[in-house]
Amino acid sequence: MKAIISDMDGVIYRGKQLIPGANEFVQRLLSEKVPFLFLTNNAEQTPLDLKLKLEYLGIRGVTEENFITSAMATAMFLRQQKERATVFVVGGGGLINELYNIGFSISESHPDYVVVSKTGNFSFETLKKAVRLIDAGAKFIGTNPDMIDPVEGGNEPAAGTLLAAISAATGKKPYIVGKPNALMMTLATRKLGVHPEDAVMVGDRMDTDIVGGMEAGMTTALVLSGVTTRDMIDNFPYKPSFVFDHVGQIDPAAL
Ligand SMILES: [Mg+2]
Repeated sequence: MKAIISDMDGVIYRGKQLIPGANEFVQRLLSEKVPFLFLTNNAEQTPLDLKLKLEYLGIRGVTEENFITSAMATAMFLRQQKERATVFVVGGGGLINELYNIGFSISESHPDYVVVSKTGNFSFETLKKAVRLIDAGAKFIGTNPDMIDPVEGGNEPAAGTLLAAISAATGKKPYIVGKPNALMMTLATRKLGVHPEDAVMVGDRMDTDIVGGMEAGMTTALVLSGVTTRDMIDNFPYKPSFVFDHVGQIDPAAL
């Protein structure tokens, strides 16, 4: 049986709404003892926040060990680059928490890095600070490339939009860690202890989940419960191994 690496937003829930079939899917993974991980570009929340969110939606039995966020991946990447460093963070608690966990400190004066994720506290002042620090030589890092997140009532600007603003003002491109970067896929298979060919990437986005899984050598399963509709699939030069309306239709043993 293959291991499952699953996206969350658009797969398990949409905003604060549980997607039909998602609880059954997770319960099936647990009862059939399928090794699984949630791999999310969400950098705002910690694994504990995400576990509590799932419980709030009625999904029980998942532990903090079942998550890898782009904030965790960014922290692990930075830790490989440098043992100790200072960071100016444009982002929220999830990211700051992971950076503290690896022993980095947060500073606005001559930081080694400017790390950017989605945050509701993005102002002109923050933008100006980030731009000046990067102009002064701080390295420019993004947790994930997503331009927008679909939530109830419409779209919401995400990390990619903030990165684009900083990019426009500095003329510099960020190094972006989240999906589809192979770093995320490698962290996930390593944590599960499986080879990529023994893993299935489940997600709702062609340009992050499916392309990332495909390039890592995984089986891929697109679900149509998020941002992708069936007629959009042909607009991409690659296709998923499987397409499902929602995760409730997935039989892990059949992938
Ligand atoms: Mg998604």
